[in-house]
Amino acid sequence: SDTGVALLDYRDLTVTLPGTARPILDAVSLRVAAGEAVALVGESGSGKSVTARAALGLLPAGASTGGQVLVAGRGLVGADAATLREVRTGKASMIFQDPRAGINPVRRVGDFLTEALRLAGGRSRAAAEARALELLGAVGLPDPPRHLRQYPHQMSGGMLQRVMIAGALTADPELLLCDEPTTALDVTTQAEIMAILRTLQRERGLGLLLITHDLDLAAACCDRVYVMYAGRIVESAGAADLLAAPRHPYTAGLLGSSPPLHGEPTRLTPIPGVPMGLLESAPGCAFAARCAFARPGLCDQSPPPLVPVGPAPVGPAAVDPAGGSAAPRLVACHLADELHEEEL
Ligand code: SF4
Ligand code: MG
Repeated sequence: SDTGVALLDYRDLTVTLPGTARPILDAVSLRVAAGEAVALVGESGSGKSVTARAALGLLPAGASTGGQVLVAGRGLVGADAATLREVRTGKASMIFQDPRAGINPVRRVGDFLTEALRLAGGRSRAAAEARALELLGAVGLPDPPRHLRQYPHQMSGGMLQRVMIAGALTADPELLLCDEPTTALDVTTQAEIMAILRTLQRERGLGLLLITHDLDLAAACCDRVYVMYAGRIVESAGAADLLAAPRHPYTAGLLGSSPPLHGEPTRLTPIPGVPMGLLESAPGCAFAARCAFARPGLCDQSPPPLVPVGPAPVGPAAVDPAGGSAAPRLVACHLADELHEEEL
């Protein structure tokens, strides 16, 4: 395709809650091409969950918005109920952090899935059950017929998250939104769930937006990564490029603050301080108060714009028609051209 239409396309999305000092999302632009796995990384409170929910047209109550979010070309900000329903039941599905919050505890797993399937496709009960068995197999559950009869409390968190992934697939979505899908799980189960998500994403050609606080996980599982701080994208790049050479001081700090799954931690230096809250604002860079490189008279004067840095990417990624992987690295830092990876 050379249409250049991204599956998911945020265009300068700004979301402001009443009584706050700054927008919770500030001109967020982010794209996911069909079949592409993209991560949005940031600390808790950075705005990444609000971003994810906006892809289903879910915005915080009372918020004022600017910009647009398009899923398969359909704008969701200000969309009518029919458009939102169409997107939520056929285009995009979401998986949340806590699988138990998304399922009725007194109903069997089989009823949860067959009901979703019948809503999505008008299937007969028998056809829905057959499809539910298939989906439970596809998410790696060992005994689908038995799991259909189980109640949520009879399953571990990891098994139940697989059920939720199966549930998200019932409508044959083109886009899977995953908000911290493994954060509530132990490390081994986390790796299994991520492997299943990645397999499903590749096999079905799904667009995937992974929301996580863990930059190393993001880079391991996704093609491209966006880093968000205080409601703004501060860096975006191909996953390998970002991991090899972060260009924003915050990205570098995130890499240093998460121990690797294998081997010895190398740069385990947590970022000092806390993220800027919604009742605070800054005339300059929102990260300045925590940044080891902040330059008074520059960083505290104006917010750094998100601009391309470094050479344009080359190779197959450079011809991605959606502009996804082909996009140059973007960095919002006044010193992006000065700071070298050695320093960071
Ligand atoms: Fe640090 Fe200044 Fe860059 Fe902000 S603009 S990240 S304070 S060096
Ligand atoms: Mg969150």
